Amino acid sequence: EAKKQGRDCFSFFTKDMQQSAQNRMRLLNELHGALDKQQLMVYYQPIVDLATQKICKAEALLRWEHPELGWVSPAQFIPLAEETGMIVGIGDWVFRNAARQVGVWRQRFDPLFQISVNKSPVQFGKTSYARDHWLQYLQQLGLPGQCIVAEITEGLLLDATHQVGEHLRVFREGGIQVALDDFGTGYSSLAYLKKFPIDYLKIDQSFVSHLQADSSDMALCEAIIIMAHKLGIKVIAEGIETPAQYALLVNAGCDYGQGYLFSRPVPADAFSELLLRQNRPVPEQREDD
Ligand code: C2E
Ligand code: MG
Ligand code: MG
Ligand code: MG
Repeated sequence: EAKKQGRDCFSFFTKDMQQSAQNRMRLLNELHGALDKQQLMVYYQPIVDLATQKICKAEALLRWEHPELGWVSPAQFIPLAEETGMIVGIGDWVFRNAARQVGVWRQRFDPLFQISVNKSPVQFGKTSYARDHWLQYLQQLGLPGQCIVAEITEGLLLDATHQVGEHLRVFREGGIQVALDDFGTGYSSLAYLKKFPIDYLKIDQSFVSHLQADSSDMALCEAIIIMAHKLGIKVIAEGIETPAQYALLVNAGCDYGQGYLFSRPVPADAFSELLLRQNRPVPEQREDD
């Protein structure tokens, strides 16, 4: 019987699946050495205050440049890193980069600048180390917790154990803020918003991209913004690509936005250039020019 089942299973294992299983294995093997071989990078995407159009935050996003495969999408390798637990080490590395970077940008450009760092459910481990070392690292750098926003997803809160609540509470007490990422795409439960300390809701790109064409998406965005504000939560819209989307969101009272309209994720140097340009005084127009 087992043998028969085995054979049946194998017959479902098509050429395509075999190919993708091989790709997975290859990515998995090579991800192990990627950090040491300096193939991983942290890029930063501007988050803009929609009312002033000024960059006031950044999201740290992991990039992997493989010598033969080129850029590997996080959508492909993050799940592998999560399944194997590698995301714990890699995620801490992203966090430490972001923490050092936010210190630099606070000093050079904006004393209230924040960087948000994605934190996978796997990184909410059982030990107090998992909970405390972000705050300890910030302390070592002489930075307040308010420098960092931890981006979590609804899935984490869905099967939330006592530890997750405790973890977020310790973050909050240390000043680290919490953003609920991809809001509206998971098993959204409004009870989360009451139960957990949430500072930001990030409206998922899938609602923003059809804002113009789909009136129900507009209604959802408006409702999310009103609800969040009543709860004292700020709203960040993801994936703003057009001036029309920007205008609709500003009118709806959305606080912050992120998307290709403003900038793609870029390396830290290029991000510094963006901040430099926005802080440079606009040259005065002279009459005789
Ligand atoms: P996310 O946290 O929701 O990040 C936003 C994603 O939207 C990024 O994709 C960003 O490049 C993309 N994006 C931003 N603006 C636009 C736009 O206007 N149009 C379009 N089409 N896309 C836009 P990315 O960098 O490929 O990352 C995908 C996901 O991988 C992230 O989604 C996050 O869940 C995960 N990820 C990335 N870096 C890390 C990390 O350091 N740790 C963990 N745990 N997850 C990460
Ligand atoms: Mg995110
Ligand atoms: Mg998101
Ligand atoms: Mg997303």
